[in-house]
Amino acid sequence: MNNFNLNSLIRPNVKALKPYSSARDEFKDFDQDMVFLDANENPFENGVNRYPDPQQRTVKKILAEQKGVQLENILLGNGSDEVLDLIYRAFCEPREDNVITLPPTYGMYGVLANINNVENKEVLLVNDFQPDVDAILKAVDKYTKLLFICSPNNPSGNTLDAAIIENLLKSFNGLVIIDEAYVDFSSEESWLNKLQNYPNLIVTQTLSKAYGMAGIRLGICYASAEIIAVLNKIKPPYNVNELTQQRAIERLEDVVVIENEINIITIGKNKLLEELLEVNYVETIYPTDSNFVLVKVDNADKRYAQLLEKGIVVRNRSSQPLCENCLRFTIGTEQENEKLIKALKEM
Ligand code: PMP
Repeated sequence: MNNFNLNSLIRPNVKALKPYSSARDEFKDFDQDMVFLDANENPFENGVNRYPDPQQRTVKKILAEQKGVQLENILLGNGSDEVLDLIYRAFCEPREDNVITLPPTYGMYGVLANINNVENKEVLLVNDFQPDVDAILKAVDKYTKLLFICSPNNPSGNTLDAAIIENLLKSFNGLVIIDEAYVDFSSEESWLNKLQNYPNLIVTQTLSKAYGMAGIRLGICYASAEIIAVLNKIKPPYNVNELTQQRAIERLEDVVVIENEINIITIGKNKLLEELLEVNYVETIYPTDSNFVLVKVDNADKRYAQLLEKGIVVRNRSSQPLCENCLRFTIGTEQENEKLIKALKEM
């Protein structure tokens, strides 16, 4: 292993922080013969008059069982965007530290760097959107705290090579965040199974994609108990609301329904990939392990506008490095995919 030392990565103010202790840290079961006059709530029951469980224990118990991890390896957030922000705030000193991101990739890593006033060192992906290990290690200095890896990668869609990631986990002394927002669409193994092997590994997932719950905002962070304890210290006390917790519990138990939806999306994706071969201005169809496909067209701005005219909104990724004239299509229902293909062929 490398010289990873978690303690040296934590911001001094976070290390010294005495976290807010909420009224509900200890008590959360309202069914006992107890009177709760501790949190200045309105006592009249309406289903949400009480603060939610700040530790989200029921949601975490289900996740722990399904994913084969312990409760102390899980932190939940208001979407994985909040989880990513907490990671910045726990480990990156503004105006001093830096992070490495690998464009073209998910835009929030860079935006969060800007918000947190942390330098973002961008090291472009190479060779069909794979990390350039030498260039990444060259960019690392003693202030480099985080390395963001998105796999499967948004917007390219591909899984990043496991041997390359393993090499980075071994050679980089900071924290490696593997964003698995799209992992449920991929046949590749999740990095969750490697948490024990790498103390510097953080895996993030979300209920926003395959689980069909973008509206409730539930993001998940898996890491060592030590890393999770640091993030717990700084998270807002009630960052996951009661309605979100309730809906997540219901949905997480719908394993068969979710699997079925993923299968249908995958069938739709394979059909779309085939049909795209027949569209003459589609120049490249990039391999995808996600619920979207990136394609290079003759003129992305023109094709985007034409699709919009036909009432179809896609994502124009042309401004991202290595994505000139690229559009990203999310896989929809069978009817939506057919509408897209029909429109593309008519244009
Ligand atoms: N990571 C990636 C790679 C994403 O594409 C997205 C959403 N587009 C997110 C994270 C954010 O997910 P959430 O809805 O959980 O905040």
